[in-house]
Amino acid sequence: MSGIKQDEAEQYATGAVKLDQRLAQVYQSAEYNSEIENIYHPMSVTEFESQSKNIHLAALLKETGLEVAKKVNVTEPGYLDKFDELFNEEHFSELKGWLIGYFINQAAQYLSREFREAILPLRKAMYGIDSLVTDERFAYDETVRLFGDVIGQYYGEKYLGAEAKADATKIVKNMIAVYQDHLKKNTWLSDTTKKKALKKLDTLVLKIGYPEHVQGFYDKFKVTPALEGGSLYSNVKENSQIKLKDNFVNINRPIDRTLWEMSAIEANACYEPLSNDITFPALLLQKPFYDLQQDRAANYGGFGTVVGHEISHAFDNNGAQFDELGNMKNWWTDEDYAEFNKRVKAEIKLFDGVEVGTSKINGKLTVSENIGDQGGLTVAVAANKQEGGDAKALFENYARFWGTNAKPELWELAAALDVHAFPQARVNVQAQCQEEFYQAFNVKEGDGMWLDPDKRVQVW
Ligand SMILES: [Zn+2]
Repeated sequence: MSGIKQDEAEQYATGAVKLDQRLAQVYQSAEYNSEIENIYHPMSVTEFESQSKNIHLAALLKETGLEVAKKVNVTEPGYLDKFDELFNEEHFSELKGWLIGYFINQAAQYLSREFREAILPLRKAMYGIDSLVTDERFAYDETVRLFGDVIGQYYGEKYLGAEAKADATKIVKNMIAVYQDHLKKNTWLSDTTKKKALKKLDTLVLKIGYPEHVQGFYDKFKVTPALEGGSLYSNVKENSQIKLKDNFVNINRPIDRTLWEMSAIEANACYEPLSNDITFPALLLQKPFYDLQQDRAANYGGFGTVVGHEISHAFDNNGAQFDELGNMKNWWTDEDYAEFNKRVKAEIKLFDGVEVGTSKINGKLTVSENIGDQGGLTVAVAANKQEGGDAKALFENYARFWGTNAKPELWELAAALDVHAFPQARVNVQAQCQEEFYQAFNVKEGDGMWLDPDKRVQVW
């Protein structure tokens, strides 16, 4: 289908698999890379070039218009060490096969339906996907992906509206206040560290619902319709090139903390340690997460736990290493940091080996997210209690919004790569660490959900 002869195609495929296997031996595991200090190795261009004969970084930067970059972050130093062994004249045909294979697999989804069908076996093996979505659904997904900020802005203004945006902002501010209170009452932090943690909380930038305006990037992108010679592929390519250039312009510029990491049309949320900000897109602000008409306890079990989760990322094993402005800087006393790490280890042990279906959770890989969940659920429960809300309704909605459908292949991939634990465990194991859960559902020793008090973990 790509116009390559059968025997040549087989040669490329064999080479691609060979290189992939050698790369897999050099690459660090997702578990190793989940710790931020392991992927932070800034070096000068000269220093970088001294480590490899076969990659000419300065020339590459010049060619891509990036010569202003004086420093690069090498996320995989082991890969740079082995670069000349992996890529040289002897292995050139493998690299060629790998690049061609990669290119075809990436491009196929923007070509014909036949091409999309041809890459299905790969997607089936990786994610358990065994059929294509309808063309209409595909068109919708791609439109949202390419124009997320624009559609999100429209969606946010029309369907969330200024009033609900203001209400959600109030809830987030309230959760931050509960978090402040929770930190003040913390029994294992010294006053010195507490003060720094509270400062970090005070400096948090809030991005709620939808941004004030759409990013300038969209002014530069113009769709070329089929009648004028454009295709889906040509437009996607044009879009990603403009986006890349737009990103490059930011090199050496001060960080713009008003930029959104997510579009308003995503049912997701995030915390960014590099700028100490949290984002809650408009699409998240609906049932079961949040609704003005929904029981307050249910809102705490939904949106409340998500807000608490994102705030807790400022204090998870990675976030804890960044100060209030997003600089990697230690603000802890030695004793407090030692105690924190003890609790992090307990959280790792709590989740390590927990089975979901035929897959097992890796406690270390998922620890930052599990700390987020633990802190989030704890403050949501505290906020709900303060207002006399029903704990049962909170836990029920917390379980409801994690309801997930996935094939075993996806669980397997997630077990190896995803920093999030399986949703079932995010609900059950976290609930088992909350005293209020036992009271709300009258769980007694010997019951399936019982966990001995000395095994329950509280980081935050
Ligand atoms: Zn998270």
